[in-house]
Amino acid sequence: MARVFCIANQKGGVGKTTTTVNLAAGLARVGRRVLVVDLDPQGNATMGSGIDKRTLELSVYDVLLENATIAEARQRNDKVGYDVVGANRELAGAEVELVDLERRDRRLKGALATANDQYDFVLIDCPPSLSMLTLNGLCSAHGVIVPMQCEYFALEGLSDLVNTIKQVHANLNPDLKIIGLLRVMFDPRITLQQQVSEQLKTHFGNKVFDTVIPRNVRLAEAPSYGLPGVIFDPSSKGAQAFVAFAQEMVGRIDSM
Ligand code: ADP
Ligand code: MG
Repeated sequence: MARVFCIANQKGGVGKTTTTVNLAAGLARVGRRVLVVDLDPQGNATMGSGIDKRTLELSVYDVLLENATIAEARQRNDKVGYDVVGANRELAGAEVELVDLERRDRRLKGALATANDQYDFVLIDCPPSLSMLTLNGLCSAHGVIVPMQCEYFALEGLSDLVNTIKQVHANLNPDLKIIGLLRVMFDPRITLQQQVSEQLKTHFGNKVFDTVIPRNVRLAEAPSYGLPGVIFDPSSKGAQAFVAFAQEMVGRIDSM
């Protein structure tokens, strides 16, 4: 049975998509069967996995509206080693169209149930909001991975996300929990980042992943080649950190 994880943080530009595609590539490298679901109309996880969002025939939009199954909508770029259900601007309309439909927050969950036995991991790249799309992600998942930069305002935003996760857990999805907080774009030379990192460990204890993802330009360059950094430049510090993170995830899941 697939373990399903949302990569979520309602802030934009905090490293969700980078975490999604690199964790997917890292898990694929250690032999796991992985599906990435792009739930962001920006389609960055789609493009960053080498799939052109402008020419998608079927996307996660069709899956949410039950016009396509996961098996019909998924695509594979053999270079990256995992499957992708892509997204593009069309998905922005789903937010409004879902409002009047039944089970509007469980559409993705229903669709994923049909592909459950084909994957070890499903990673859902959430949009930068706590919207109906994100809610579909949270209702489908066993857990949430929260990438965050160690900056002052990061902690403020975190309490909104934690409250949303608690509410979804209480009302909609009792399986849901925070798997962990991932420190990304980390620069140990910046004192504030070290301080925030320490605060995180004090507040969240072992919910903070041991692996730290450094700021690394190769991770930022990789998407323009349609590849995760882990594939684009495996020897880079950023890629190595994501491979270590994939191993830490596998360890955590096995002990869950
Ligand atoms: P989100 O999905 O949360 O909006 P992204 O993963 O797209 O965030 O990251 C925002 C920007 O930061 C992108 O340009 C990405 O390439 C860059 N980036 C992400 N992680 C790193 C990192 N560890 N080092 C350097 N640049 C990074
Ligand atoms: Mg993104």
